[in-house]
Parts: sequence; structure tokens; C-alpha cells
Amino acid sequence: MRNLDDLKSVLARIDGRGYKAYKDIQGDYAFEGGVLSVDYVQGDPFASPSKVRVRLHAGTAGLPSDLHGSRVRRTAVEDFLARRVRLALRKQGSRDRGIGKSGLMLIDAGGQEVLERSAVRVSTEWVEARVEVGLPAAGRRVLGRQAAEMLCGDLPELTRGALGWTEEAEAEGRPFVECVENQEAIRSGLRERGLVAFVADGSMLPRESGVSDRPLSPEKGLAFESPQELRVSFDLPNPDSRYTDERGAVTGMGIPGGVTLIVGGGYHGKSTLLRAIERGVYPHVPGDGREYVVTRPDAVKVRAEDRRRIERVDLSTLIGNLPNGQSTVAFSTEEASGSTSQAAGIIESLEAGSRLLLVDEDTAATNLMVRDARMQRLVNRESEPITPLLDRIRELYEEHGVSSLLVMGGCGDYFDVADQVILMRGYRPEEATSRAREVAEELPTRRGFGEGEPLKLPAGRVPDPRSINPLKGKGKVKIEAEGVDGIRFGNETIDLRAVEQVADASQLRAVGRALYLAAREFMGEERTLPEILDRLEKLIDAETVDRLGGFGGGKHPGNLSRPRRFEIAAALNRLRSLRIVGK
Ligand code: ADP
Ligand code: MG
Repeated sequence: MRNLDDLKSVLARIDGRGYKAYKDIQGDYAFEGGVLSVDYVQGDPFASPSKVRVRLHAGTAGLPSDLHGSRVRRTAVEDFLARRVRLALRKQGSRDRGIGKSGLMLIDAGGQEVLERSAVRVSTEWVEARVEVGLPAAGRRVLGRQAAEMLCGDLPELTRGALGWTEEAEAEGRPFVECVENQEAIRSGLRERGLVAFVADGSMLPRESGVSDRPLSPEKGLAFESPQELRVSFDLPNPDSRYTDERGAVTGMGIPGGVTLIVGGGYHGKSTLLRAIERGVYPHVPGDGREYVVTRPDAVKVRAEDRRRIERVDLSTLIGNLPNGQSTVAFSTEEASGSTSQAAGIIESLEAGSRLLLVDEDTAATNLMVRDARMQRLVNRESEPITPLLDRIRELYEEHGVSSLLVMGGCGDYFDVADQVILMRGYRPEEATSRAREVAEELPTRRGFGEGEPLKLPAGRVPDPRSINPLKGKGKVKIEAEGVDGIRFGNETIDLRAVEQVADASQLRAVGRALYLAAREFMGEERTLPEILDRLEKLIDAETVDRLGGFGGGKHPGNLSRPRRFEIAAALNRLRSLRIVGK
């Protein structure tokens, strides 16, 4: 194998030549303790940056093997190392070295959530960082000396420093890994305890601001405290001095399965609690304040999203025949209303396999949630296609095991169907189930109950792979994330602003590639969406998100993170070209 001196001489040779000459540096170069691989060279200084991997031999990296002995630990330590590399590159790297993106060095590390990501990989033989670099240029000419400084000096040195397991890395990294492992231990324990979510005492749920995902400072925020009646405790595998007692247990509010209401006055912290629970499907970094807010992995937030497209979704259990006589058994529209969009969101989530629905009144369609006695009398059954969720929610739980967690400050009709009522008062939860029952008895709603036919869970739809096409222009694959708001997919943009559990743009890059891969490899032959999602999950389980990199991303997959099946389904459902093969 060539070494960094060889790279240096190539760079000296092409110095001053046209930018395309950089193609000559593609390849692998050994250095002491590792290998630098230039996988992809950008076409010009303004194009998306070049892709480079820095691999350290395990002996040089010195990562203790117990820190990557399980999938959870490996994911956590990889995520941690990506953050360390980012810090090193930001501190000392990324110097301006000419025009365009010259001198840029980037790694795709995460935000508050800890995700399985492709930016750093750890194996028993090596530790590897996948970095994007802007190769230096002056007026579209190669700056060979600057490039040598960068590729043969700064980059290997900085990554070696950041990937090497120093005392400092141990002091920060071990608690990081242990904290993530604790969170996953709680998640695994939820089901057998009959819980859908857990919120630890001492958690800090509110965020710094609407545009910052960092926690509100302890001076400004009130730490979470469980009501006595709902307090449970989990024994954790690792101590965490901020949350665990001497016995290694953490206490907090356990939310049981069934129908749970979060009620309370405006501005008392209801949505903040629900948002933390939404995000609790992912582990969080130590210090986030929501480390021990842990939710069942299949929780899906559903909301109204008018104007979205719907493709052959069976809405009939929530919405019957429409005024124009249109059937809703395989309902399609290019522009949904509030109620039909939310109904579609519910049915699609169940189809993808969710058994825990999260709804906030702030983003729900009122007419899908409730119809009170007066409205029932004025607008008779025949002229109202909607069976409100209120009339379906017990059945969903009792017949189909679908729990729900609803923020409902404005409508007490739900008292009749709730298993638990949590009352938020000044950011403090109170157990209010029996008080709500008393109120329900004193003030009957006089609603007629049991509207609608018996509810059936959706049988999976069959997507047509030919309707999923990420090619743009001259047959080039275009799959790009627009932050966490959408995916540019071929000629269209999939709007995901209403899909609130996307944690990271790198998840959306992976979602786009997963759709492409699924269309090429898994769809067709009557295969249903849930079966396709199963196959995708199995593939990622076996080969990690790296496997998605080859699809539209070249051979260097450094900027992907693992999406949940629900977000993959959500993107597919919002793809405007999607066709479902009808029966
Ligand atoms: P609601 O949904 O009940 O109307 P929100 O959850 O939107 O209320 O919260 C209202 C405001 O209170 C937000 O600005 C939020 O950041 C803040 N907040 C929520 N929980 C806390 C807390 N525990 N401590 C301090 N501020 C909080
Ligand atoms: Mg609210």
C-alpha cells in the first residue's frame, strides 16, 4: 500500500493544475497506526465535498473492548467518537484554504439524540471516521501544498487524537455509553411492567427556546417530579449519580398502557411533556435533561396535516362515505383536509406497526377528536361522515392493544374513556383519574356512544415500485435531506414538516435511500408495506445503515443515521408519486 509520502508527492506533482487533477489522489495511504482512504474526489471547489476515511488499527486506538461489546454499546461509543472528532475538527481544523469549500473538514455527528450512525465505525480490528473535506483550490486550480498539509498532516493527526482512547475520553465516554445503556435497559423493561413511557424524577423537559434543542437551565426550569401514585422505579445496569440512588435505581412516573389523558390549564407544560415523550423513542446524551424519558419504540405522534397527499388508505373506521358519495375504503386525495389527514396518519401508523399513538390538541383536528352531544343532535348521524376518535379509542385498546396518550386541555368528554388522567399544574403532574371520574359522573355528557361499525386494523397496502423514482434529469440519483423538514427525492420534495419524530437530517438521507433500496429489492409480488419495512429493518440490523450508503451515496456512507420504520413509512406515504397497487 502507498503511504502518506506518496500522497504528498502526487499532490506536489498536480500542484497548480486544473482541479480535476485531484482525481489522481483517490486511493488508500498507510500512516503510522492506520490508513487514510480518499474514496471520492469532488468535481470542482464548489461541489459537495470529497469523502475521506481515516482508519486506526485497534491497537493504536486503544478502545476498551467492553465499550463495544453489545450493539447498544457499540452504537453509543460510535456516536460519542463522532462527537469527539467533530470537536477536534472544529477546534483546530477547517481552515480557510482557498475558494469554495477549500479547507473544510466535516463529520456528521449528532444533536441531542444518540443514533446508530455511519460517521464512525468500530470493529474489533479498527476504528474509522468518515469525513468530508473540501480540497483546497485557488481559481479552480489545485493547491497542492495546502492539500498536503490538510490530508497528510491535520486530518490524520486530528482524527488520531480524537479516536484514540485517552484518559479524557474514558472519563467522558464511559459514562456516555453507560447512560445510553441505562436508557435502553428501561426501554426493554417497559413492556413487562405494562408501561408505555417513563419520565424520571429530576428530568428537565423544557428546551432552551423554540429553535434550540438544549435544555432550559435549572434556574429557569422546574425539574420533573412524578405524582406519588404513578411513581415506579427501575434498577439500572450502571450508576448515574445525577439520577440513581445508592442501590442503582431510578424513580419516576410510569405511564401505563391504555388511554391516558394529559390535561391542565394553558401554558402548564402539557405539550412539553408530550414532546419529551415523543423524543423518548431515542436515547439522549447525558446532560440533555431527557436522558431518562423513555418511551416504547413504536410510539408515533399523529397530527392534522391538511394539504398532504393520501394514497388508497382505508379511512372507513374513522371517516365514512363523503358528501360527494366517495367511498373511504381506499381513499386517495391530492389535498387532504385536517380530519382526513389525521385519520390517514392514524391508520398509516397502525399499518406500519405502531401500538402507541400520541396526539396533542394543539396540532389535532377537533372534528376528528370529538363531537359533543349538542353537535350530535344538530347534525344527524347520516350527514356526518366522521366517527370521532373518542368513539374508537377504547376499542383500539381493548380489541387491538393500541394505547394512546392524548394532550386534551379543552374537552372533558374524554374523561369517560380514559384509564388515566394526568393533570399538569404549574409544570407539575398530578394524578387526577378519580377526580376526573367524579366529574364525569356529576356532569354526564349525554353523548350517544358507540358510533360506527366495529373497527378493523389495516391490512397492509402493496406499493408499486415503479412509482418510486429518485432519478432526476439525466438519470442521476438525487436524494438529499432538507434539514429535518423534507427529502429531495428525484424530481419531487417529500414534505415531512408534520412528521415530528425525525431527529436528524442524516436520518432523512437514510430514509430516502431506504425507499430507493426497497423499491429496487423488496417491492413487488404483492408484498405489503409492513413486510417491506420488516425486510428493511432486518437488513439494517444485519449490515447497519452503511448498507444504505451505496444507494445514491457512492461507496462512502458517512452521513447516515438509522431511521425508525415509522419515519420510512411516513416518507413513503407522503411521496406524491406513490401508487398503491389496487385490488
Ligand atoms: P401547554 O401545552 O400546557 O399549553 P407548554 O408545554 O407549551 O404548555 O409549555 C408552555 C411554556 O412553559 C413553554 O414555554 C415551555 O417551555 C415552558 N415550560 C414547560 N415545562 C416547563 C418546566 N418544567 N419548567 C419551566 N418551564 C416550562
Ligand atoms: Mg400545548
